[in-house]
Amino acid sequence: MNEAEAKQKLESLREQLDRYNYEYHVEDKPSVSDYEYDMKMRELIELEGKFPELITPDSPSQRVGGPPLDAFVKVQHNVPMLSLGNAFNEEELRDFDRRARGGVEEDIEYVCELKIDGLAVSLTYEEGLFVRGATRGDGTTGEDITKNLRTIRNIPLRLKENHSLEVRGEAYMPKKSFLALNEEKEANGDEPFANPRNAAAGSLRQLDPKIAAKRNLDIFLYGVGEWEDSPLESHSERLEKLEELGLKTNPEWKKCKDIEEVIDYVNGWVEHRMNLDYEIDGIVIKVDRLDQQDVLGFTAKSPRWAIAYKFPAEEAITHLKDIELSV
Ligand code: NAD
Repeated sequence: MNEAEAKQKLESLREQLDRYNYEYHVEDKPSVSDYEYDMKMRELIELEGKFPELITPDSPSQRVGGPPLDAFVKVQHNVPMLSLGNAFNEEELRDFDRRARGGVEEDIEYVCELKIDGLAVSLTYEEGLFVRGATRGDGTTGEDITKNLRTIRNIPLRLKENHSLEVRGEAYMPKKSFLALNEEKEANGDEPFANPRNAAAGSLRQLDPKIAAKRNLDIFLYGVGEWEDSPLESHSERLEKLEELGLKTNPEWKKCKDIEEVIDYVNGWVEHRMNLDYEIDGIVIKVDRLDQQDVLGFTAKSPRWAIAYKFPAEEAITHLKDIELSV
């Protein structure tokens, strides 16, 4: 492919991906599967890799999420809320491990967590009090959805200790609530939601908090954005601390001593995930030590110390059937 052909192909891929992003992040109504989206994004990244001079700053490969809706007050994230790089098979997980080990001097331990399929949110506590909740938006600017998040019972309005910190997690809709909501929508002649992720995102981006209050949403916290003077040295310590503060974390996380243990964990969940009462779309693998995370740093779009393993495509195709079988 010559440069002119590449340019044309890149334009068409970007146009498609921009449209898919808008449908997914702004309208909560995707027209293609996540797998199709991920494969298109890969094609874009690979072609940009061959023609780096054609990379544009507004390419979907360089951007996180979608723009925040004008209807909401905007919130600036002091620490950007980024995306995650993807791995689709064991070899790509091993590549990630090689890259990470190449970047630090000592051995690396990982933390594996379920990748909850919901909406990324940030919760800010001042002196232990919940003061603000926001969506990720485009990574630097999100939407203020404090009132809607206050309706989630598992979000404490006051922490057990008076810390000032910003925590991050995934708000989601359990499978049972999703099925009940869609039944109700169909009975009323309304269009059902495509999946629990879009239902959760659609519910939290409503101007009337009474709607979110009726939707039985829940949350798992999985990270810290800002926490000045925190003495903690690893991600696993942070997860334990969040739980101590009264912030709900997912109980299935595991510390793994090497990539082989990570791969065992991943393989175990490929089948096991059907038994969960919420949807997951993969496994997130994070370098445990915070000093090693700092050394590895970030690309424009994602941390180099973490990766999302995405479940295989066949699984995505049986998606809706899985939901019905497992609730
Ligand atoms: P991502 O979903 O691949 O990964 C990042 C997100 O994972 C984080 O923002 C966080 O919200 C979430 N997450 C869940 N559990 C987590 C945990 N334990 N630790 C850390 N993060 C956790 O990336 P993205 O940028 O949010 O979205 C891109 C993805 O969205 C695509 O890969 C695709 O699957 C989907 N998408 C689909 C369409 C479509 O049209 N079908 C369009 C756009 C995006």
